[in-house]
Amino acid sequence: MNTVYMDNNATTRVAPEVVEVMLPYYSELYGNPSSMHTFGGQVGRAVEEARGKIASLLGAQPDELTFTSCGTESDSTAIHSALQSFPEKRHIVTTRVEHPAVKNLCESLDKLTGHKHRITQLPVNSDGTLDLKLYAESLTDETAIVSAMWANNETGVIFPIKEMAEIAKSRGILFHTDAVQAVGKIPIDLSQVPIDFLSLSGHKLHAPKGIGVLYVRKGTPFVPFIIGGHQEHGRRGGTENVASIVGLGKACELAARQMQDENTRVKALRDKLEDGLLASIPSSLLNGHKTLRLPNTTNISFEYVEGEAILLHLDRFGICASSGSACTSGSLEPSHVMRAMGVPFTAAHGSIRLSLSVYNTEAEVDFVLEKLPPVIAQLREMSPFWQGEHKGKTGGTQCACSCS
Ligand SMILES: *Cc1c(COP(=O)(O)O)cnc(C)c1O
Repeated sequence: MNTVYMDNNATTRVAPEVVEVMLPYYSELYGNPSSMHTFGGQVGRAVEEARGKIASLLGAQPDELTFTSCGTESDSTAIHSALQSFPEKRHIVTTRVEHPAVKNLCESLDKLTGHKHRITQLPVNSDGTLDLKLYAESLTDETAIVSAMWANNETGVIFPIKEMAEIAKSRGILFHTDAVQAVGKIPIDLSQVPIDFLSLSGHKLHAPKGIGVLYVRKGTPFVPFIIGGHQEHGRRGGTENVASIVGLGKACELAARQMQDENTRVKALRDKLEDGLLASIPSSLLNGHKTLRLPNTTNISFEYVEGEAILLHLDRFGICASSGSACTSGSLEPSHVMRAMGVPFTAAHGSIRLSLSVYNTEAEVDFVLEKLPPVIAQLREMSPFWQGEHKGKTGGTQCACSCS
C-alpha cells in the first residue's frame, strides 16, 4: 500500500538533496567545528555556509542566527531571555492558539513563579484571525515580551506579524514570533519586519528532526538558555549538530527555489481537495480564514463524527492526516485552537487537518477525494447524534464522539 502523506504540518520528508549533503558529515567530515586544526576548520566553514543560506531565506544577517535543537528550544530560549533581560517586567502577551511550545511554557511560567507573571492570552475571531485593536490594548508598560505565531499549525491561519511587531516596537516591547510553520511556505523578510526573535524548526521544511534556529535581531538583549561552551558566540552551549545544520542550509536553499511551486501548484492541490470535500460531504465546514492562510493547509470539520475515528479509517487506505481532538487521551476535549475559534461542539470533535507539501500529487488528492466521503457517511450511519439530527430520532446533547 502506498502512503499518501498529508501531515506535513506535523513533520516533513527529509528532501533527498538534503540527505545527500548531510552524509559526508557522518563519515569522513567528522571534525569539531570549534577545533583549531584544518580538519575541524573545514567543518566550521560548512556550518557558516549553512548559516548564510538560512539567513538569506529570512532576510537576516548570518550572525543573527543561533542553532538550537528544535523549534521548542528556540521558543523557550526567546521567552526566557526576555524575562531575564527585564526582570522587573512581569507581563507576557500571547494568544490562545499558540503551539504547546509557547502555550504550555507561558502557562507553566505563570505557575512556576507563583503567579508573579501575568499572562494575557489573546482570543481569536471565529475564523482564527486576530483583532489588532484588542492586541494593541493588551500591551502595558509591564509587558516584557509578545509571543505570537506567524502561522497556525492546525489551521494555517496567518497573523499580521508585521503590524503586530511594529506596534510592539513603538511601545519598546520585545517581540517573538514562532515562525515554525511559516518559514519555507510564505516569504519572510526580516529586514522589513521589526521582530526581535524568530523560531524555526528544520523538520517542518524538509530538513531533519532535531535542528532549530533562533533568530535574535542585532542589538536585542539576549541571555542564553543553555549555558556551556563558547559555541554560537556564547549564545548556546553544546557542540553543533553539524550534519543537520548543513542539511537545514540545503533545505532553506530548496525552499527559496520551491516557494513559487508551493504557492501555486501545492495551493491549487489544497484548494481542489478542500473544495471537493466541502462540496461532496454535507454538514462540513472550513476551520480558519479562507485566504489569510498557508498555501498547504486545510482544516475541515465534519459534524457529528469523531476526528480520531476518521483518522483510523483513512489510515487503512494509507492516508496520513491529523485531528485536533484528543480522544485517545481520554479527555474528549477538542483542541485549544478549535475551542478558541468557538467551533460548535458538534463540529469541533470532527476536525481533520490535511497539510500538503511539494511532494504531493494530483493523483493523491483524487485518491483522498474518493476515499474520504464514504468514510464520513459510514461513521455518521453509526452516530446516534447524526441520526437524531437527520432522521428524526432523539439525539444526545453531549459528545458526538464515536470512540467511547
Ligand atoms: C512543530 C512546531 C513547533 C515545535 O517544533 P519542534 O522542532 O518539533 O520542537 C513549534 N511551533 C509550531 C507552530 C510548530 O508547528
